[in-house]
Amino acid sequence: MTRPNSLQKLLGRIKENPTGPIARALEFSKAAHANQKRESGEPFFNHSLAVAEILYQWKLDDATIVAGLLHDTVEDTSVSLEKIKSEFGEEVSFLVDGVTKLGRIKYQDSNPKVENLRKMVLALSRDLRVVFIKLADRLHNMRTLGSLPPAKQKRIALETHEIYAPLAYRLGMQNLSGELRDLAFPFIHPKENEWIKKTSVPLFEARLKYLERIKPVIKRLLDEQGIKPITIDFRAKRYSSLYEKLLRHEMDMEKIYDLVAMRIIVETVLECYAVLGVIHQKWPPLPGRVKDYIAMPKPNSYRSIHTTVIGPDEQLIEFQIRTTKMHEENEYGIAAHWLYDQERRNEEKNRPRLTKLVEEMQWVKQLRNWLEKYRGPKTDPEEFIQAMKIDFFRDRIFAITPKGDVVDLPVGATPVDFAYHIHTEVGNGCVGAKVNNQIVPLDYNLRSGDLVQIITQKNKRPSEDWLKFVKTSIAREHIKAALREKDKLRRSARGPTKTELRVTGENRLGLLKDISAVVERSHLSIVSVHAPSQPGSRFTALRIQCETTDKQKIEKLIVKLKNLKGVRQVSYRFV
Ligand code: MN
Repeated sequence: MTRPNSLQKLLGRIKENPTGPIARALEFSKAAHANQKRESGEPFFNHSLAVAEILYQWKLDDATIVAGLLHDTVEDTSVSLEKIKSEFGEEVSFLVDGVTKLGRIKYQDSNPKVENLRKMVLALSRDLRVVFIKLADRLHNMRTLGSLPPAKQKRIALETHEIYAPLAYRLGMQNLSGELRDLAFPFIHPKENEWIKKTSVPLFEARLKYLERIKPVIKRLLDEQGIKPITIDFRAKRYSSLYEKLLRHEMDMEKIYDLVAMRIIVETVLECYAVLGVIHQKWPPLPGRVKDYIAMPKPNSYRSIHTTVIGPDEQLIEFQIRTTKMHEENEYGIAAHWLYDQERRNEEKNRPRLTKLVEEMQWVKQLRNWLEKYRGPKTDPEEFIQAMKIDFFRDRIFAITPKGDVVDLPVGATPVDFAYHIHTEVGNGCVGAKVNNQIVPLDYNLRSGDLVQIITQKNKRPSEDWLKFVKTSIAREHIKAALREKDKLRRSARGPTKTELRVTGENRLGLLKDISAVVERSHLSIVSVHAPSQPGSRFTALRIQCETTDKQKIEKLIVKLKNLKGVRQVSYRFV
């Protein structure tokens, strides 16, 4: 629908300025590719135009669109880079050269060459627009992959799956990454693709119908507790990721509870837990399926609460609960970081805009908003490009694993941060590190393009000293968790001696006092109280430790606590 429209717009813009750089590039590219045809039989130039059109849709600047039109001229025709430079200037020739060089990175069997990848990462940090052109080029090639010979199809689809989709993902372009994966999937797994389509379509439809029925129920439940969700929507799994999950579940579609998940987005972290409490009070959770990725984020920084409950008619429902900020970071990766910086700079007055963004945002829209901000009539294009380069990569570095995966980290990150981003166990077991084949200390500051190798030892536990130099919260949280575990092991040798109560309720004055009074009256002595200070927030979660492990006493106490005004949920564990 929008595609022919945007092509017309691009062509319209060329007509308006028939001697401008885009018009000249169009003619130049048409002439250069004059006798070339694509495998489908259509003129090669159509591809150049399609790439320019995608870049135009992404609202990129003129130099990038010009470079998009010319991106294959140096590689595939007799045109030299000098010619491009003299016709279109330094900036365009730099971009075309960058794309040509990236094109030379050819995919070798299942092990992409680390050296090449490093070049790509360095190109990335020089000018992001080169990568946008390459991704637009790849997107169009994938959309037209059907007309290539089968052997080529598979190689290109694999390369897309293993290099370009993860790269897009790394850059925060989650939607583009998903589209690339889905386009590659039928060529990599043709039979499975057929099977999944046939099997999942009726299931998808049944799930959607069911969730449509549940949605108003949840809305009402939350409303009763005064929780106003920002959005409640459904998220269908993409075919490519559905397949990966099926592989882990004996290809049994019935075991995929999150074929369509229900996603609830709220404003604050505390509301996330409150929503979880509301859901669990209404429907019983499935044991072992409650995942708190807010307290313990995934290694790729993903944060959310997941739970699967047994809903009406004994049907399983998966919920994903998160805040707006978490949602954006999950969906848009690095992009969300710079988006948030922009938002913060505009301060509180733009609050409603954020909410609107969540509803309709795709990374393209984000990019567009951001570009428009920089592209006012007064903005110098030089300044804009500088801002784009700096903002996108400011405070980030890209380090590489021996297998060729790219890990993005904040500036100042150390091998320990890197290790925890690979896997919790790698982090916990880390005893040393090599950077570019040289042994380095664990507090070494990594730089973009560094090839990092972590040396691990089994049954090793992290050291408390690491907390002094790690830069990422993931590393910090995992180190603390491992240290706590160590502590607990030591204590559990003696057996638990105390009970920790967790009371979630309305953040009202006097709540803590009332709770203490009830505990005191039950003849239990309080050892410690942890009350988060959150003035102004609607809910609070208190942790109270008492000197007892008498289950009966505790359960009686919980009944009394639940009767207190404003208390929503009480749980306990022995410590
Ligand atoms: Mn191309």
